[in-house]
Amino acid sequence: MKTHIRTVALVAHDAKKAALAEWAHVNHDKLKPCRIFATGTTARKIKERCPELDITALKSGPLGGDQQLGAMIAGGDLDAMIFFTDPMTPLPHDVDVKALTRLSTLYNIPMACNQATADFIISSALFVEGYHREETDYEAYTSREV
Ligand code: PGA
Repeated sequence: MKTHIRTVALVAHDAKKAALAEWAHVNHDKLKPCRIFATGTTARKIKERCPELDITALKSGPLGGDQQLGAMIAGGDLDAMIFFTDPMTPLPHDVDVKALTRLSTLYNIPMACNQATADFIISSALFVEGYHREETDYEAYTSREV
């Protein structure tokens, strides 16, 4: 069954927040029908630039916002993840990016860590037409003998 991209996460590290807010502005036609979840400070920056978008602010990333997004992925409540990461600055919550990358891989969620990949995702016909996302069956794992 095709899933339409309805729920999108937007996150950016500090050095990339302005770029993500601008990206959201440029792509607001595609984002307008979506429910957007963003970490606290990213949400504020995007709302300033794009007041017309439906953005729910979670906690700030380092205070658990990234983990809230991870919980949404695990719960099947997120269709795409756009995370503009800063590869030049060590951050206290670096592990959270790794965790989100892992969960996006595990649940086969499209995830962009830079603008080029985000452009490919949002300009894809699949973004508007819907996408059949293969899901791995983890039954053998969850029912294993330990
Ligand atoms: P922030 O969090 O939007 O609250 O700054 C983003 C992040 O995970 O660094």
